[in-house]
Amino acid sequence: MHDHDHMGLALAQAEEAFARGDWPVGAVVVNRGVVLALGQNRQNTMGDVTVHAETDALRRAQGAHGLAAIAGSTLYCTMEPCPMCAWALRIAGVRRLVLGLRHATLGRVDMGGYSIEAFCTMVGFDALELTTGVRLDECLEIRRRWGQDQVRTAPTRGGDASLR
Ligand SMILES: [Zn+2]
Repeated sequence: MHDHDHMGLALAQAEEAFARGDWPVGAVVVNRGVVLALGQNRQNTMGDVTVHAETDALRRAQGAHGLAAIAGSTLYCTMEPCPMCAWALRIAGVRRLVLGLRHATLGRVDMGGYSIEAFCTMVGFDALELTTGVRLDECLEIRRRWGQDQVRTAPTRGGDASLR
């Protein structure tokens, strides 16, 4: 499988999250061509703001295969990771990050000067190889579809619903 196909798995995870009422973001951990785990955002339905697609995928990969199996892996995500998830990637030993949609592309204004590149520079995460724009149109479509849903963009549990 190539990047296009692995991102397809992530998009399917994003669709599942959307249907359930969670932010439509999906992630896949792949090492040496083997899919270690799939993940999706579950922060609304689990009531846990730390369950993003990337942390969900890493948690499942570590649980099923152990931390050592993740070292050197590639993480595919439909959205650019937030700072929390970016740090989790580093701790887990992820070596390559493949993205669909960037926060800047979405026009977000709530993340200041954050980008995955800025984060890596700030913390010295030099080992991360970055590929962006994979199946961008599809990643953008599901995110915009979610953003247009008034019910799902309403504040939940007192948190800031504008923050994924
Ligand atoms: Zn995150």
